[in-house]
Order: sequence, then structure tokens, then C-alpha cells
Amino acid sequence: MDADATRSTPGRVVVKVGTRLVIDGEGRPRPEFLERLAREIHEVMDQGVQVVLVTSGAVGIGRRLLFPPGRTLRASERPSAAAAGQPVLMRYWAEALARVDLKPAQVLLTLDDVVDRGRCLRLRDTLEDLLGWGVVPVLNENDSVSVESVTFGENDMLAAMVAAAVVPAELLVILSDQAGLFTADPRSDDSAQLIRRVSPDEDVSRFATGAGGPESLGGMARKIEAARRATDCGIRVVIADGNCPGVLPRVLAGEEVGTCMVARPRMPSRKAWLAVHENPRGTLVVDEGARRALLREDGSSLLPSGIVEVRGHFQAGDLVTVVDPDGREIARGLINYAAAETDAIKGEHSSRIAELLGRPGAAEVIHRDDMVISAEGQR
Ligand code: GLU
Repeated sequence: MDADATRSTPGRVVVKVGTRLVIDGEGRPRPEFLERLAREIHEVMDQGVQVVLVTSGAVGIGRRLLFPPGRTLRASERPSAAAAGQPVLMRYWAEALARVDLKPAQVLLTLDDVVDRGRCLRLRDTLEDLLGWGVVPVLNENDSVSVESVTFGENDMLAAMVAAAVVPAELLVILSDQAGLFTADPRSDDSAQLIRRVSPDEDVSRFATGAGGPESLGGMARKIEAARRATDCGIRVVIADGNCPGVLPRVLAGEEVGTCMVARPRMPSRKAWLAVHENPRGTLVVDEGARRALLREDGSSLLPSGIVEVRGHFQAGDLVTVVDPDGREIARGLINYAAAETDAIKGEHSSRIAELLGRPGAAEVIHRDDMVISAEGQR
């Protein structure tokens, strides 16, 4: 069990910087922006805040290095463009941070590095060490090796998962070239209004405007999805205009900047890791009684008696989702039994487990400590 399971980490922030801030339209880095943000990072670190930086831009820089101007990048060329662009991106960040006497450390990740518990814990140790030494971890997706099935999609999601389940942070700041989330696309609609505050229960996906492109993948829809992942785990998210001078210190000082997405209660990091986990291996359908027992305030573990159907091929220790009779996900957790065993004991009282399996086993199919109630279950 993680030692830090319930520790909140005051003064730790993940700052995600989008491609359109890091490079200009031609794919050239914007040193004046990088230097300004480096100064702001230095300023907040001086106040005792630890900063993890997530930066995009490698693919855009690489495109300019490898291909003629104006040439559109094909999806299959992204990995190579990232490989060419990443060292240049990192050099610019290192120079910008060095100007304010900060040391960067590059960490390139794939989704597997968060989903695999062992790698996630190693990653956490690395980041904790770096933060403890006053170094600025500079993260990006390792696009050169990421394949579709194990990609974060874009850096908004990477940043949200790192903030929720890896370091963990209190606050995620997503900086882009937009002032925040608007009621309509401000570039084409004069009536568009900036949304200042979004509560955890509010569905704002209908306000998502502006798609990403082949280099800058995000777009507002993915930002909202990523932000939701973070707020469901108890991380506050601010989406703000990175080009606005002083944005980072102002957000940290609690000023109303951009769009603030209010968080649900803080989840212990192990539960947050379960919540952001992308690849459940199976599904358990439970009856109404079990659903109520799981969703109770002092919720119980999942016992075999409440399970009506077992789907998927999983082993003991795998992540499975728990759905109600209507198919709504209510929880997810690490299961104590393999699929065939779960099937053999479903609907039965725990006292019959030894007899049915021919060996003794845990009374709970999923123990409460290994389970997280899904956001849909809380809504
Ligand atoms: N990892 C990509 C890059 O460095 C950015 C992905 C994104 O747009 O979020 O260019």
C-alpha cells in the first residue's frame, strides 16, 4: 500500500503548456514565451510551490526540421517528427530555465508508464526526488514509441493523469492560446462568454469548441475530458491563456483567471490511479442490492452474492469495472479472483467460496480498499 495514500500535497502544481504557445505558426520555438514562463515558474517556486511542467511542441518543431515549410504532417510521421523535435524543445526549455537558475530534467512517458502500477510508482519516486531537489521535471509523451492502444491521446490527459495519480498535485493549470472555456467559439461568435467556474457536476462538454490539429492534438473537448479526470480525483483545474503575462503566479494566488474547474473531494493517490486507469480487463454486473451497498456513504466491499454476470478474461489482481443492472459503471477495482473463479462463486454466499473453488479465498471479490466509486456513480 502506498505510504502517501492520503497525504495531500500543498503547493504542488502541474503546468501543461500547449504547442501553440511553445512554437509559432512556422514551427519555430518562441523563446520569449518560454523565458517568461520560466520566470513565473521561478517566482512561484520561490514561494515554496513545486512545479511539474508538461510541454508539447516536439512534433511541431520536428515537422519544421524534417519537412519543407507548409507540408502537412501525416499521422504516421508524428513519431519521427517527435524524435527530431524533442531535443530541440528540451534545449529551449533548458536555456529558458537556466536564465532563472533552474535545472530541468526530461521525463518522456507513455500511457503504460502510468497504467502499470510498478512503473507508476517508479515514476513517482523519480519525480518526488527531482521535486525534492528543486529540479523542474519537464514531461512530454514519448510519441516516438507510443502506439495507438497505449497513448494518452494528448498532453492534457497526460498532465491530468500525472497530477491525479502520479505525483499527486493539488492543482493542474492548462495553458493554451485561449483565455479559457467559452459558451461559444470566441473567434467566430461575438456573444461568446468566458465561463469562470465549473462545478464538479456540471456537464460543459457542449461548450467544447476548436479542434486540435495534427501537431497540437488537444482542442477544448479533450481539455474538458482531461480536466474532468483530474477534478473527479480531487485536483482543481484552471484553463487559462498562457500568453497573458503573470498568469501562473496569479492563478496560484487564487485570482480569478481563465476557467476554474472545481474539484470533488480529494481521492487517495492509489484510488486515483484506479480511477484514471484506462484498460479494465473485465466487467461484473451486480444486482440492485449490491449497487446500493457499494454506493452507501460507508460503502462495503463487493461480495460474490451480489454479482449476477461476469464478462471478460481477467486474472486475480486485474482491474475490472462494476456495472449496475442498467450497464452504468458504478465502481472499478482490483479483483481477488480470476474470471472463471468469479463466475463459479457469483450469486453465492462468501461462506461457500472454499467449497466451490476447492481452496480457501477472500470473502470479498473486490475489497473496499482496492475499489473506487466511479464519478457516474457519485452523480
Ligand atoms: N506530445 C506532442 C508534442 O510534443 C503534443 C501532443 C499534444 O498536442 O498534446 O508535440
